[in-house]
Amino acid sequence: MPNIVAIVGRPNVGKSTLFNRLTETRAAIVDSVAGVTRDRHYGKAIWGKHEFTVIDTGGYITGSDDIFESEIRKQVQLAIDEANVILFVVDVIDGLSDFDKAVAQLLRKCKKKVLLVANKVDNHERINNSYEFFELGLGEVNCISAVSGSGTGDLLDKVIEDFQEEPEVTDESLPRIAVVGKPNVGKSSFINALLGVDRNIVTDISGTTRDSIETNYNSYGFNFTLIDTAGIRKKAKVDEDIEFYSVIRSIRAIEYSDVSFFMIDATEGFQKQDQNIYYLIEKNKRGVVILVNKWDLVEKDHKSTADYEKKIREAIKPFDDVPILFISALTKQRIHKALETAMYVYQNRTKHISTSQLNEIMLPIIENTPPPSYKGKVIKIKYITQLPMHYPAFAFFGNNPQYIKEAYRRFLENQLRQNFDFCGVPIRIFFRGKD
Ligand code: GDP
Ligand code: GDP
Repeated sequence: MPNIVAIVGRPNVGKSTLFNRLTETRAAIVDSVAGVTRDRHYGKAIWGKHEFTVIDTGGYITGSDDIFESEIRKQVQLAIDEANVILFVVDVIDGLSDFDKAVAQLLRKCKKKVLLVANKVDNHERINNSYEFFELGLGEVNCISAVSGSGTGDLLDKVIEDFQEEPEVTDESLPRIAVVGKPNVGKSSFINALLGVDRNIVTDISGTTRDSIETNYNSYGFNFTLIDTAGIRKKAKVDEDIEFYSVIRSIRAIEYSDVSFFMIDATEGFQKQDQNIYYLIEKNKRGVVILVNKWDLVEKDHKSTADYEKKIREAIKPFDDVPILFISALTKQRIHKALETAMYVYQNRTKHISTSQLNEIMLPIIENTPPPSYKGKVIKIKYITQLPMHYPAFAFFGNNPQYIKEAYRRFLENQLRQNFDFCGVPIRIFFRGKD
């Protein structure tokens, strides 16, 4: 299950500095999502065997320069609702404030794991100043310096202490399909259209987690697990909250699934917020089928779908090799086709191309269009193999691989897509040295 770590605390204690450190220090293996909201408040971190989501909840609060009791309550509540671990950051230079006491009071009552973090402990003398925070009644005070990084390793060890290991994916596992998208695009209606066909074909899986509803769907030749996170909707008062919750819902659903139905509203087109969620699917390397829902509401002429499709492909570049379907959850138009397409994408994501087949097809292509040499260094690719990963990933072995440019990587990706069909799935290419 996805692990979510939320950072809370009053303004200027160093929340975003800590966020940046947790999500960016190990740049090679860590990925941050740009533009999830106005700024970046959501990122991914890896520590030990665990990959987890970090949220700077402070970033979701409007007017956070002025401290309003209600604003902070809201921030803490978001963290309590959505995170597995809460990092409560206080400032050792400023010392204990009434404000910290108010936040601590909220956190003491919650059932989530809370780690108290004293930031700006840039030198040993400041450790002495951290003792006063014991008064908050949240146990141990974890001293760190977000700027230098000292103490953050120990903190991360504690963060992941209770995380469960990802279960092994076995061949017998059913495809896991999620429905994601902005609020009101029609996710629930679509799920009802699917399940409403015959309620008896739906069986609840025992032991499913609280934050997702999983149902086995077995009908009309389809057998998969439907991940439904849309059903548990919070009452949100302001836009900011709606954005926050819908992003968190999407993160969860995407991380739980193999393939996502990514739904947009035909009457609105592909919007900025849609782009953010789409980006999350790509970054998490999940399969995707784009559903343009409420197609019944669109006035059509003979070229409507082609035009519409073109606009979407433009908006989702560079990962635009994906199926796009025009459906109506209301009239059930093309619902069956949607399921068929999700299964096809699932197959594309799980298939394995043999090394001999890869080399037979790709090496002549590379010979015809070799990577351009760089500063007199000749780059030669000698063989290719698919890596044993949960999504399609390929290693290209050769000499001087470090000089291969992004444009050539993209060329290879396109060739793989044209020759082997990875429609709907992000793929990854690694270059490796070979003597
Ligand atoms: P936020 O409002 O809680 O997100 O706080 P910021 O991350 O924006 O940090 C507020 C200020 O504290 C900035 O000027 C940071 O450079 C500074 N700061 C953050 N972490 C540290 C630290 O470990 N030591 C020191 N001395 N300053 C820090
Ligand atoms: P969710 O928030 O994404 O789960 O969206 P809902 O399923 O709650 O749908 C939001 C609104 O759009 C509701 O009023 C639905 O009746 C309506 N709706 C959903 N799908 C369709 C559709 O295919 N056509 C039309 N005309 N309305 C739809």
